[in-house]
Amino acid sequence: MEEDNIKTRVVGVDISTESTTYAIVDIRGNIIAEDSFATLDYSEVNGYVSALCEKIVVMVEANGGYEQIRSVGISCPSASFITGCVVNAPNLPWKGNVPLAAMMRDRLGLAVALANDAHVSALGEHTFGSAHGMKDFIVLNIGVGLGSCFFSRGHEHQGFEGFAGEFGHACIVENGRECGCGKQGCLEAYVGAKGIVRTARELMEASDEPSLMRDLERLTPRIIKECCDQGDAMAQEVYRRTGHMLGIGLANYASIVNPEAIILTGGISHAGKWLLGPTRETFEKYVFGNMQGKVKLLVSKLNDRERDVLGASALAWEVPEYSLFK
Ligand SMILES: [Zn+2]
Repeated sequence: MEEDNIKTRVVGVDISTESTTYAIVDIRGNIIAEDSFATLDYSEVNGYVSALCEKIVVMVEANGGYEQIRSVGISCPSASFITGCVVNAPNLPWKGNVPLAAMMRDRLGLAVALANDAHVSALGEHTFGSAHGMKDFIVLNIGVGLGSCFFSRGHEHQGFEGFAGEFGHACIVENGRECGCGKQGCLEAYVGAKGIVRTARELMEASDEPSLMRDLERLTPRIIKECCDQGDAMAQEVYRRTGHMLGIGLANYASIVNPEAIILTGGISHAGKWLLGPTRETFEKYVFGNMQGKVKLLVSKLNDRERDVLGASALAWEVPEYSLFK
């Protein structure tokens, strides 16, 4: 009788608007090989999938071959783990319902698991990061958009069609700012990157007080944070207001799901104390009393890109094995 081959490696793929990163990752989370390319080089989805699969095949053949690869995990915005489809991703050129998992499986001959970026970030934090060993936690990814995923009793909450966690589009201000999703008053319109810059511009227009921000040609959340570090009161007020909005949103979220911790990831989390201080203050004011002082508010220690490719590899272990290459 032939001995069954135990497969000890998977492929993790992280798709974002800017880039697609793909890597071979072993069972311990070691990255064996990694590469990336610009996602927007391919405006048509068939061309994109063919190119991605070709690149994966070349990498796999150069690094031990197919026999060791168990499955593939993919992180993509607006993707559903349940349906295996990417549906109308706002910042990707492929519209409609794209059955990405099935397309990849057909071309690669391997089992493929697909999930949205917030879900995969949370898996990465759970397997390799700040949420290791926790069963109930929220991971919040704040960049241009604001996504979230919460784990309950050790498992991610998916929702009916796999779109749970769209926290950025929870309404926080009735008839408030317009959001990229077409609705008004969404949390993302205040706490996402564009929202933070808008708050800065509104504050500058509303008064004549001096601010370092006035002399800058280009404003970004990172530059506003640097102004905070230099003692600029108006820049600090920008993050105080941002943290206040985030604190209200998170108090509501936590009151519903009772997490052990909330872990902030993504570019905006790098604002550190300027964001965290006001968020904590407002959070404690509004969260349900039994949870006051008990919910840990943490900033991820993992590098965003590495976490997502590792998270995608953790996802790959969640699908049943299937391979044309025994
Ligand atoms: Zn929205």
